[in-house]
Amino acid sequence: MAGYEDPRLLQAKAMPIVEVIDRLGIAGLRATGGERVGPCPLCGGRDRFGINLRTNAFLCRRCGIKGGDQVALVQEVLSVDFRGALQWLCGDAPASIDPKELERRRRKAAEAERRQREASERYRRQAIADAQSIWSRSRPGAEGVVRAYLMARGITPDLYPNISPALRFIAAHPYVKKVGGALETLHRGPCMVAGILSPGGEIVAVHQTWVDAEPPHGKARITWGGETISAKLVRGSKKGNAIRLHVEPGSRTLVMAEGIETTLSALVADAVPGASYWAGVDLGNMGGKQERVDGTRNSGVPDMSDGEAFVPPPWVERLIFIQDGDSDPRATRAKLVSGLKRAMALRPGLKGQIVHAGHGVDLNDVLNGACKGLEPGADD
Ligand SMILES: [Zn+2]
Repeated sequence: MAGYEDPRLLQAKAMPIVEVIDRLGIAGLRATGGERVGPCPLCGGRDRFGINLRTNAFLCRRCGIKGGDQVALVQEVLSVDFRGALQWLCGDAPASIDPKELERRRRKAAEAERRQREASERYRRQAIADAQSIWSRSRPGAEGVVRAYLMARGITPDLYPNISPALRFIAAHPYVKKVGGALETLHRGPCMVAGILSPGGEIVAVHQTWVDAEPPHGKARITWGGETISAKLVRGSKKGNAIRLHVEPGSRTLVMAEGIETTLSALVADAVPGASYWAGVDLGNMGGKQERVDGTRNSGVPDMSDGEAFVPPPWVERLIFIQDGDSDPRATRAKLVSGLKRAMALRPGLKGQIVHAGHGVDLNDVLNGACKGLEPGADD
């Protein structure tokens, strides 16, 4: 850990995160429990950005900036590198420092880190317990609203006769959000619940899609403060995990898209006969952490120190990521490339492939086409 040789890192990590928020001029955040939530300093909005004051973890649900400490927050908001962030937080590196003072700062920073790790671990355990409780209350998808919702999304019973055991439902499920420090139920209604499994096969998170109780049973319209908010929520620990929509016995190919609907569309098109089809929940999960290259966050180069990123199971010999139509195709592609390169590095012999579902191209034609190069931003 060469970074620890710079005493400014210890100084930075001992700074209260609220102080850093103020110095960065991040405005409009509201205190809700142990968090500050509000507009993203990079992409705006209303409540898409949050910082946990105990763990220092921050995340924007739209542009994807995230990190876990003071230095990372400065890096992301000011778009500077690690050294630039330290310089901004603590000034010039001191020429020399008293070893006793260095030791004191080291202990202080280690203690602060330990407390943050413990807090994160407590939240993670609680989130997993919540997810398992939701899952235990859900019923098989074939008995309820799942069929209606899938039909509304064009996945009809003739195409998809047997609903996956990964898809269940709850008839009157509360949509709970933290508002002003307290949990508030913003909506209650039928909800499709998808189980997110750890590599070991344990339910560790649920993906919830609230469904409109009225025909044609599309996504529910949920509003908060006059704004329509996402009808989908994940509860639990999704990192490294997936929704196993279809597991084909003996298959050697895994097809993965971010969302449930896209993954099912590929499945019902029988895009790759004999393949298994999993949903990766979100692109950040499929791609894992990336190395910053020339200041670029979405470099397409996996950060192999990310031990929690998704890695396909050992039976996978061919991993196909489906790239959805997206407002930022370059960033999307970089995330997928990062995930494939990680998988290929950790599973020697594995073949990785990205297929693009957009531009009106039939998925089946694309999937049967030649293997694309694995360069971020490569032209489709
Ligand atoms: Zn943002």
